[in-house]
Amino acid sequence: MTTIPETLRAATERLAPVSATPRLDAELLLAHALQIDRNDLLMRQRDLSVPPGFESLIERRLTGEPIAYITGTRDFWTISLHVTPDVLIPRPDSETLIEAALDHFGAKGPAHILDLGTGSGALLLAALSQWPLAKGTGVDISPAALAVAQGNADRLGLGERAGFRLGDWAEGLDGPFDLILINPPYIARDVPLSGDVLHEPGGALFAGAEGLDDYRRIAPMLPRLLSPGGMAAMEIGYDQRLSVSALLADQGLSVAARRDLAGHDRCLVATPVPPI
Ligand code: GLN
Repeated sequence: MTTIPETLRAATERLAPVSATPRLDAELLLAHALQIDRNDLLMRQRDLSVPPGFESLIERRLTGEPIAYITGTRDFWTISLHVTPDVLIPRPDSETLIEAALDHFGAKGPAHILDLGTGSGALLLAALSQWPLAKGTGVDISPAALAVAQGNADRLGLGERAGFRLGDWAEGLDGPFDLILINPPYIARDVPLSGDVLHEPGGALFAGAEGLDDYRRIAPMLPRLLSPGGMAAMEIGYDQRLSVSALLADQGLSVAARRDLAGHDRCLVATPVPPI
């Protein structure tokens, strides 16, 4: 019988040509096949045997399918989210938005939160789990994404404090909100892509010729939605700080940039300028 360490070694070798993280992938898929978490797998290697379903998971990964879509889950901030191909896979880069909000609001937190383009609900639900008194609304233009977000809210016990609505950004929404979280599509139409993104919903990724189309629509909506001491945290591409800052400044907002762990500009913080 093939042992767990041998199986992981062989799977890592097979996945190396298609993945930048073949060993991690092999561990996550084997843990998923065994219906245990990755730590348990690594601790209990000698007591476990390889389940028959493992091979088909490896074959799916070999076709390029993202790990999060195969296992159906991805961790984000302090929570674990259910994900399907109807939603973007939450990325650690996007945690930069939550860090920015934590710096602004501290432990007390915001009272009312809006998440535009909520997808899996990652940003809204991370914020609601961070601040137990906050309430929030997640908006998405995709009914399938909203179903995923609602399921996540319920599973995490946050359903009472989270509402979801179908919508085109903030069309028809009334504020004010203390915290607005936004991870819009921002990839330019013709950028060549590879890897996981090829399997993700295009509507969550692409935004016209320069990747700025959705920022142009969202920026004018923000001033009327923000409470006086509030802030909007908006994700940007690494080379979009100047162009998107200008769109926000045109709306009379004050803007600061924040970097992700890789040192790339990743988040713009927009706040109302207080009247003098
Ligand atoms: N950060 C993502 C990527 O480059 C893009 C996400 C987005 O468009 N919001 O893969």
